[in-house]
Amino acid sequence: MSKNRAPGEQTVVLVVDDDMAQRLLMRETLHDFSLAVEEAADGEEALAAFARTSPDLVLMDVKMPKMDGFTACAMMRRLAGGQDAVIVLVTGLEDFASIRRAFDVGATDFVTKPVNWPLLSHRVRYLLRAGRAFRNLRQSEKRLSIAQNIANLGNWDWDIEKNSLFCSAQMYRIFGLSFQEPAATYKTFLTRVHPDEREAIRELVDTALRTKKPYSIDYRILLPGGSCRNVHEQADVVHDEQGNPVSMHGTVQDITERINAEEKIRLLAYYDGLTGLPNRQLFLQLFQQALAAARREGGKVALLYLDLDRFKRINDTMGHSAGDTLLQEIANCLGESIRSSDIVAKACLPCKPGVTLSRLGGDEFTILLTRLAEEEHAGRVAQRILDLLSQPIRIAGQEVYISGSIGITLYPGDGEDVDMLLRNADVAMYHAKEIGRNTFQFFSAQMNQRAMEKLSIETDLKKAMERKELLLYYQPQIDLQTGRLAGVEALVRWLHPRLGMVPPSLFIPIAEETGLIVEVGEWVLQEACRQAVLWQRAGLVPVRMGVNISSLQFKQQGLAALVDQVLQQTGLAAGCLELELTESAIMQNVSQVNQTLIELKELGVNLSVDDFGTGYSSMSYLKRFPLDTLKIDRGFVMDITTDANDAAIIKAIIALGKSLGLKTIAEGVETAEQLAFLQKQGCDVIQGFFISMPLPVREAERYLIEGEKFC
Ligand code: C2E
Ligand code: CA
Ligand code: CA
Repeated sequence: MSKNRAPGEQTVVLVVDDDMAQRLLMRETLHDFSLAVEEAADGEEALAAFARTSPDLVLMDVKMPKMDGFTACAMMRRLAGGQDAVIVLVTGLEDFASIRRAFDVGATDFVTKPVNWPLLSHRVRYLLRAGRAFRNLRQSEKRLSIAQNIANLGNWDWDIEKNSLFCSAQMYRIFGLSFQEPAATYKTFLTRVHPDEREAIRELVDTALRTKKPYSIDYRILLPGGSCRNVHEQADVVHDEQGNPVSMHGTVQDITERINAEEKIRLLAYYDGLTGLPNRQLFLQLFQQALAAARREGGKVALLYLDLDRFKRINDTMGHSAGDTLLQEIANCLGESIRSSDIVAKACLPCKPGVTLSRLGGDEFTILLTRLAEEEHAGRVAQRILDLLSQPIRIAGQEVYISGSIGITLYPGDGEDVDMLLRNADVAMYHAKEIGRNTFQFFSAQMNQRAMEKLSIETDLKKAMERKELLLYYQPQIDLQTGRLAGVEALVRWLHPRLGMVPPSLFIPIAEETGLIVEVGEWVLQEACRQAVLWQRAGLVPVRMGVNISSLQFKQQGLAALVDQVLQQTGLAAGCLELELTESAIMQNVSQVNQTLIELKELGVNLSVDDFGTGYSSMSYLKRFPLDTLKIDRGFVMDITTDANDAAIIKAIIALGKSLGLKTIAEGVETAEQLAFLQKQGCDVIQGFFISMPLPVREAERYLIEGEKFC
């Protein structure tokens, strides 16, 4: 029911009296002030008229039949809109009992009979104005309360002199206090503040009073059920002219939802979804903090960088979800044992051991040890982790065995900042892998040196091709039957501007790792063929050109097409080219390999198995593939004259070659004895320092001209 009438709408006064003459007089008096007047003859009628017209003011006689004015007033107050109406009771003069009763039943004011008519109208106008002001106040209080409800905001005022505290309804709700409880005090509210923060709040208020400065703070409220609520409070102090604090005013906002949302975001942003461990982001922060603390207090920190060995294999064979389960199991198992481990407890200085397990991603974990007592303890913790990992883990009904490699860096010593310590731990971890996995390695400066060299070779190698720093050496091969030059093997060299001549053993593995070998190999093939044709055109006897093909190159689609194209371009006869493939390359993906070999064979090129004898013991593939030559590995040739076993192997290989119709070439022949032995066994061709070192192009050319007949 609207009590605030729209502008232009008339103010309504309800006149209630059983005496019609009185009603008439009242109506006349009030009409002059352009008030609309409604009438009722008794209490019951008055209630009905009130409900119907919702008057702004009721002027009601107390003595009436059916229902008297007191009862009607009390009932009106309970009607909708009755709270706000101005109700004036008309009592007998000096009838103090009636006046008191009028007050008790909620009358706004009273007038006595006989009524002073000229005054009445003014009185009514005053009361109407007061009523309007009162209603406006109520309205704005209501609005404020709605706004506070929406904003989860409460406010309070504290009169310091009177030590009285006013708190809005929202304040009570936020603090979990009942609004009915009479006048909650500062202390009551303080008891609801979380015990951990109570003292801080008390101090803050004291300081504010002393300094007369505003404050704002976030704290927690402990609710009776034990749950917590987060609030943000802002307050200011009002002081008098002398600067004495008079009152304080503040707002308290319930920010629990925001804090919860922030917490959720934090969880998503800083924890790994799979294992629930801190993720890389959080780990970096924690590491940074640990280093800052160590720097301040002169402490030690160890970083253990763990990478699971051959985790990819599990993913590939058992599926990704099994891989995920395994990572979860490992995270649980490591997390628990690390926390409860004696070794970890001993590794760190007294109090709680500073250990954090994080997952950096994939199968990489870090264990951060802060307040480390002795550096070697880090090694013990690493060993403990490896021991834990060595236990079988059941995944999808299967026992899975896994191991890990750990690299360790220490602060101070192995790096100044997070980046460097992490990088060096990575280097140490790779070293642990290189020396056979399932082990840990402390970082050392030499390791770094090697890693740096490797890295610089990697970046330089990319440029080497453009800068034409690669070149070929040629190592002659001699036919043992005729004693004539049978061919040459092209061996790549890298003339590095700073490092000088870099042997292939240093950069070929890196080129293979990075995939650059494909490009390098293509260049070698091109260059070797071009050179062979140049020599032939210069009138030299045509010799076979051996070119090494890396397994990665071999796996690429279209190797045969490339070889065909190079032969066409250079004009070299296919029969003059011999591609050297390693055993392991041939054994990968047998069906596809056979197809490639057939294509190559169809071009007419020769195919040889390089480093024969070092790879697969199964020789059955030799029969299946269209091969021409076996290159017996240098390792067997080396000891043929001293090691009976090696001699036996060589004999067997040569015999095998003969039975399969394959030519045999012995590599790494360094002595006359070796040559004699090989010749006796019927080896076809030899290559090695005894004949010649690999030669740069001009010397190789000279060799081709002069040293045609060797034996
Ligand atoms: P490989 O194919 O087995 O090449 C023979 C290696 O043995 C050459 O080393 C050669 O210099 C060395 N050698 C020859 N005779 C003797 C000897 O009597 N005694 C000793 N101790 N060594 C001898 P190099 O040139 O350092 O090449 C090493 C390896 O690098 C090669 O082994 C080959 O696997 C790879 N490689 C070289 N050039 C290329 C290339 O162009 N492409 C690819 N993919 N690999 C290449
Ligand atoms: Ca070779
Ligand atoms: Ca070889």
